[in-house]
Amino acid sequence: MNPKDYLVSLLHVATEEQLIAAPKNTTALLQRYGFQFKKQFGQNFLIDLHVMGKIVRAAQIGPEDVCLEIGPGIGSLTQILAEASGRVLAVEIDERLIPILQENLAAYEHVEMICADFLELDLTRFAAEHRVDRPLKVVANLPYYITTPIIMHLFESGLPLDSITVMVQEEVARRMQAGPGSKDYGALSLAVQYYAEPSIAAFVPQNCFIPRPGVGSAVIHLKRRSEPPVAVRDEAFLFSLIRAAFEQRRKTLVNSVSGAVRAPAAKEAVQKALQNLGFSETVRGEALTLAEFARLADALMEGDSHG
Ligand code: SAM
Repeated sequence: MNPKDYLVSLLHVATEEQLIAAPKNTTALLQRYGFQFKKQFGQNFLIDLHVMGKIVRAAQIGPEDVCLEIGPGIGSLTQILAEASGRVLAVEIDERLIPILQENLAAYEHVEMICADFLELDLTRFAAEHRVDRPLKVVANLPYYITTPIIMHLFESGLPLDSITVMVQEEVARRMQAGPGSKDYGALSLAVQYYAEPSIAAFVPQNCFIPRPGVGSAVIHLKRRSEPPVAVRDEAFLFSLIRAAFEQRRKTLVNSVSGAVRAPAAKEAVQKALQNLGFSETVRGEALTLAEFARLADALMEGDSHG
């Protein structure tokens, strides 16, 4: 089934012609409210039903699901999530959008609008206050200026999560999915892959949004792992090593990570640990898998030399 037909098959209340995401409806709505886009909020609204279909198909939403949307805008994706799922929690920072959302999504009692900066929310409290009783499916067209902070906030907060299906910059999607040895591989790849299994669901051209963003986009699906793929003694130390390893990616690991290791002879400790793991002294961070970084972190811990 093509993505748009899939989308239409999910509709219960609205017809295809009534979808906010249909370009002519979005334009009419923006005109009716005299809405002016705010660039600093990353406001690029999606106006392509085919792409909407790809997002909801990748997210695999059913009537039992609770969706969390970050940045509903005028409600284009929110409406589709409301049609397909049992409940939608939508967090929007721009207070000008709240009355527009309330008016246009009035038919959907199971949509809750929260006016807040998502990054400022204590997500454990948020889940308790909103009586979230199952792992959430996060589905959103993210504001690009804060993509990584949003994703890390979701993973690190302890919020029960099933998956994250989001529109991001194409380059960021590639970095999340990259493996060792590729130019896109880095701290973001390792952080995301520690928590989730990534897969790119679609590449999306600029003309699918108003206003058009300056970069290409992609939809990425991150399936939350039930357990991390590697066991490590100190997660925080692992991530400090990874961050240090990629801060200056042209440096060898011995030079880049020594600063993260608190030991009288940090450089020697890293050299020795790498040697014991079978790596050359000149190896760079981009060559190591997550499992290898975990072994390096544990080896440095064993020498009781972490900082
Ligand atoms: N979901 C809509 C769509 O697909 O057309 C709008 C997506 S637009 C790319 C990003 C949305 O995120 C905007 O509505 C913007 O106001 C909102 N936003 C930006 N920063 C935010 C933040 N810190 N917390 C919550 N929402 C935010």
